[in-house]
Amino acid sequence: MTERGLWCPAGGFHIDPAVPVPVAVVTHAHADHARPGSALYYCAEEGRTLLARRMPPDARIVGVDYAAPFHLGGARVSFHPAGHLRGSAQVRVEVGGSVWVASGDYKRQPDPTCTPFEVVHCDVFITESTFALPIYAWDPTERVVAALAAWWRDNAARGQASIVCTYALGKAQRLLAELARLAPGSLPAGEDAGPPRVLLHGLMEPLTRVYRDAGVAMIDTAPVLDDDRPRARRARGSFAGALIVAPPSAVGTPWVRRFGAGVRTAFASGWMLVRGVRRRRGFDAGFVISDHADWPDLLRTVRETGATRVLTTHGSGATLARFLREQGVDASPLQGPPAPAGEDDA
Ligand SMILES: [Zn+2]
Repeated sequence: MTERGLWCPAGGFHIDPAVPVPVAVVTHAHADHARPGSALYYCAEEGRTLLARRMPPDARIVGVDYAAPFHLGGARVSFHPAGHLRGSAQVRVEVGGSVWVASGDYKRQPDPTCTPFEVVHCDVFITESTFALPIYAWDPTERVVAALAAWWRDNAARGQASIVCTYALGKAQRLLAELARLAPGSLPAGEDAGPPRVLLHGLMEPLTRVYRDAGVAMIDTAPVLDDDRPRARRARGSFAGALIVAPPSAVGTPWVRRFGAGVRTAFASGWMLVRGVRRRRGFDAGFVISDHADWPDLLRTVRETGATRVLTTHGSGATLARFLREQGVDASPLQGPPAPAGEDDA
């Protein structure tokens, strides 16, 4: 680990570098892992289009299929699904018979928008530890999404609009895909008893289009138009009964006013497990759904990799490392550049 990020000397590349470097191997397209300015990027082919969307148009990006090995310097490198969002990858690096795996962000829960996580056997496992505390244990996604649908139905029955805030890349599309899997009767009907009305914040439109183009089945959506002139507003009708999907930053801004005084707000995030977070951020409801592994899945994954040495990054890395050491695993937190505030990516 250097101040630029995770560095592989034998291969001459960085993994998710914090600053521009000659060769960047990128685990996924979230902003805290994929930063612009590097001369050459490698990523999993499934995530290439998303990464390209987040980079300047002239960025050189090479997409490689999952499990297909390629060589960088003296290292044999391959990507393996991480289940975090579309195209997210663990990076397997083999040098002189020794195998390292950098997990990037990952989760073990099923996610209809991406290839599921795959356990990769290794000697050294670098694991994320965003939610590495025993209090973090996720409910099954179906139960959480059913609760969200019930909240939306209740609001719609009162003639209110519902705004659910999620991270714009990954979580938003996962929610749209999960909503599409619910029985039609569990969602409120739209205008004239038509299909349920789901509107997308402008930030999420292009990213969601990438998922649709890739064939991911999601509930139908329409954009929230930015044209807020009264005539246009009349033409669009009321927002009553609609579900609006927006980034957390949109709540508390004038953007929200168009949905009427009675609009209800919720945040869908792993952080919602801590009730104070919801209160502090002023949401009416919270739904605990995360694209990261919870505490039981972190421990299970570390065990299943068979790694004899474990390095932890992000969040509560010190806690996880201490716990693993008590179980007899050689584990330590990875010291590196300060972890970015990951609250929007959870
Ligand atoms: Zn991420």
